[in-house]
Amino acid sequence: MMKIDILGYWGGFPTRGGATAGILITTDEGKILLDCGSGVMSKLYLKTKVENLSGVILSHLHYDHMGDIGVLQYAMAGALRTGRAKEKMKIFAPTEPKEIWNQIQSGQSENVPLNPLKPLRLAGAEIEFLSVNHTIPCYAVKITYKDEVFVYSADTEYIESLIDFAKDADLFVCEATICEGSSHTVGTGHMDAIEAATIAKKANVKKLVLTHLPSDGDFALMRRQATEVFGKKMYLASDYVQSSPCMAETVIR
Ligand SMILES: [Zn+2]
Ligand SMILES: [Zn+2]
Repeated sequence: MMKIDILGYWGGFPTRGGATAGILITTDEGKILLDCGSGVMSKLYLKTKVENLSGVILSHLHYDHMGDIGVLQYAMAGALRTGRAKEKMKIFAPTEPKEIWNQIQSGQSENVPLNPLKPLRLAGAEIEFLSVNHTIPCYAVKITYKDEVFVYSADTEYIESLIDFAKDADLFVCEATICEGSSHTVGTGHMDAIEAATIAKKANVKKLVLTHLPSDGDFALMRRQATEVFGKKMYLASDYVQSSPCMAETVIR
C-alpha cells in the first residue's frame, strides 16, 4: 500500500501555520519526500524523521518547493554524526537555475541531477518524470507502487502531455494557483481550478486534489469550478488539514 501525506499546499509562501509544497509518500518499503518547501520540515517531523527517508525529489528549484532543503541537510548532519543515518541523503533535482543547484550542494547530501528520461527506484516504487511548462525547468512526477499510481503535476501551465502522464491515476495532486481576485500570481506557468480539473477529467483519474493554493483564493469558487468540470467529488488540499487535527492524509485504494 502507498500512503500519501500532503505536508504543505500553499503556493508561493506559507500562511496560517502551514507550509508550501511538500508531499510524503510512504510505501511498505520506505518513505520519499517530494518537494521540500517552506515549513515542510516542521510538518515532516509530525510524521517521521529525516533518517527514515529513502530520498528527496525536488520538482524544481523555486523556494516554495525547496526552501527547507538547507535545514533538512542540517537535520541530516546530526543523524549522520550519531549514526542514525548510514549514508548521505539522496536529493534528486533539476540542475537549473545553476546558482540554486550550487547552493543546495552539501556534505550531508548526494545531489543527483534529475534525468527525465531515466525513471528512478526509491522505497520500492517506480518514479517517472514529465517535463512541464513552468518559468524554470520543472517536472511532474508519477509514482507507481505495486498496482497504485500517484501523479503530482508540480508547477505548470495547462499542457496536453500531462493528460497522458496522469492517465487513470488513482490519485492526482494538481496545482491550481490562479484564482479570480487573488493577487498570488500573475499567472505565467500556472493553472486555475478549471484547467486542473480539465486535465483530471480527460486523464480519467480516480481522485483529484488541488494543491499549490493561493492564500487569498476564493476556495468555494475553486471547488465549485473544479467539481463542475471533473464531474466527481474533488478535494482542495486544505480540506484534509481541516478534517484532520494532525496532518493531511489520504490513502489510495
Ligand atoms: Zn510553486
Ligand atoms: Zn514554481
